[in-house]
Amino acid sequence: MGKTTGFLEYKREVPETKPIEERIQNYNELYKSFSKRKVERQSARCMDCGVPFCHNGCPLGNNIPDFNDMVYKQNWEEAYKILASTNNFPEFTGKICPAPCEESCVLSINNDPTTIKNIELYIIEQAFENGYVHANEQIIKTGFKVAIVGSGPAGLAAAAQLNLAGHEVTVFERDDQIGGLLRYGIPDFKLEKSLIDRRLDLMEKAGIKFKTNTNVGVDISANELIDKFDAVLLAGGSTLPRDLQVLGREAKGVHFAMDFLKQQNKRVSNISFSDEEILATGKNILVIGGGDTGADCVGTSIRQGAKSVLQIELMPKLPEKVNPINSWPEWRQILRTSSSHLEGCKREWSVQTKEFIKNEKGDLKAVKLIDVQWNYAQGKAQFTEIAGTERIIDCELVLLAIGFVSPQHEGLLDNLNVKYDDRQNVKAENFQTSLKKIFTAGDMHTGQSLVVKAISEGREAAYQIDIFLTGNSVLESKTNSLINIVKF
Ligand SMILES: Cc1cc2nc3c(=O)[nH]c(=O)nc-3n(C[C@H](O)[C@H](O)[C@H](O)COP(=O)(O)OP(=O)(O)OC[C@H]3O[C@@H](n4cnc5c(N)ncnc54)[C@H](O)[C@@H]3O)c2cc1C
Repeated sequence: MGKTTGFLEYKREVPETKPIEERIQNYNELYKSFSKRKVERQSARCMDCGVPFCHNGCPLGNNIPDFNDMVYKQNWEEAYKILASTNNFPEFTGKICPAPCEESCVLSINNDPTTIKNIELYIIEQAFENGYVHANEQIIKTGFKVAIVGSGPAGLAAAAQLNLAGHEVTVFERDDQIGGLLRYGIPDFKLEKSLIDRRLDLMEKAGIKFKTNTNVGVDISANELIDKFDAVLLAGGSTLPRDLQVLGREAKGVHFAMDFLKQQNKRVSNISFSDEEILATGKNILVIGGGDTGADCVGTSIRQGAKSVLQIELMPKLPEKVNPINSWPEWRQILRTSSSHLEGCKREWSVQTKEFIKNEKGDLKAVKLIDVQWNYAQGKAQFTEIAGTERIIDCELVLLAIGFVSPQHEGLLDNLNVKYDDRQNVKAENFQTSLKKIFTAGDMHTGQSLVVKAISEGREAAYQIDIFLTGNSVLESKTNSLINIVKF
């Protein structure tokens, strides 16, 4: 522990966001820079608890007190080694993770938590700046070949780990760029794409092969993959968006959030696309769905110059605070306000969409909404519409951000004949599907989740694949780290 009285002496301090009027002019990074000295001081707030709950809060099991201690001692290289031993991509999680570790920080019971996420980001940026991050050199080569379908954080983490274990790894991606939702979902103002390219450069140097524009199941058959590779990892994400089948759904101007967000990410990167442009410029926007995807649509619409932005949510408004005694160390069920919400949108809760209203040309011109009342009976939540609250709002663009149903079954998964779980995700035991050579990880396995969870899934799946191929594993694994220490 760096400084025993640090948490008593220093207040929590995080980087400030740029002024709203400045940041909505472009898609650049939201935050101002933060000094190294301040990060070192913030790390002194870590209490190095006897039982550090932050480890458990982090799906990767990051050794947080250990790297905080090294940062306080200004030993950034060692801090990087500790962080990199559990997280392949701290530059992504340091930017966009909702930081469940901070919710389970013991300090958060009666104080503001340690700024773990910002410390993590600073460690990796220092590591890149000072040349501590290198392409992995394969010390052993096993001769085994592994195919990874999907290049999101799950696929990339698995690729990095399997390469480290000495296997020959090929990542197949149906999009024109590598990165999954990091590349074509999450807006640049949350995650600039140069960060992905910097990491991919190292992975390529380490010998990982990337094949873009290759839709497995269409451009290359599942059977060909099974024949040519010793193991296959399915990490194709959860890509089927949930639809809202109300009257007028066919109106021109009702789109899925992902179609809108992907186009904007392509525009920022100067990548052309052939689909019809979806733009918020000059329009009244209704974002349906109160989650992160919805918030990203809000921030993007505002940057495109929308006339107005309203975000609605069917569920009731959550409280702004809860007593930590009742929730800690779990993720708190509270109202979250993102930087995008502060940029000029209105939010409403307990609102149901009744109808999309179109003009004679079929273009969306308005939406009919109604307030609902939530009731809880016999452990079930149900809603009833509140008479007299029906209203029609002007709206020329609706963005549906109400979640994802499941991975796409049609094509690759159905052709393989893998089994699905009750939620229609790919079923697996220890990441192995119902088919011997085939494993799964990330959102395709768990349903839509978080980047940190996808990285963890990729790492754990890689560990299981390594054991499947070689009978043992040299890789770090969250579940088996203790066994590894004993073995080696
Ligand atoms: C708009 C949006 C914003 C988000 N923001 C955040 C955030 O701020 N923080 C956070 O932690 N999480 C966020 N998430 C969630 C997070 O992005 C996902 O949980 C994570 O990316 C899942 O990783 P994955 O590797 O499992 O899948 P994905 O990232 O979805 O990647 C899967 C890849 O597989 C490819 N693929 C699928 N099928 C095939 C095939 N047959 N052949 C070849 N390639 C195929 C797809 O094209 C895709 O590139 C967000 C999600 C969305 C939709």
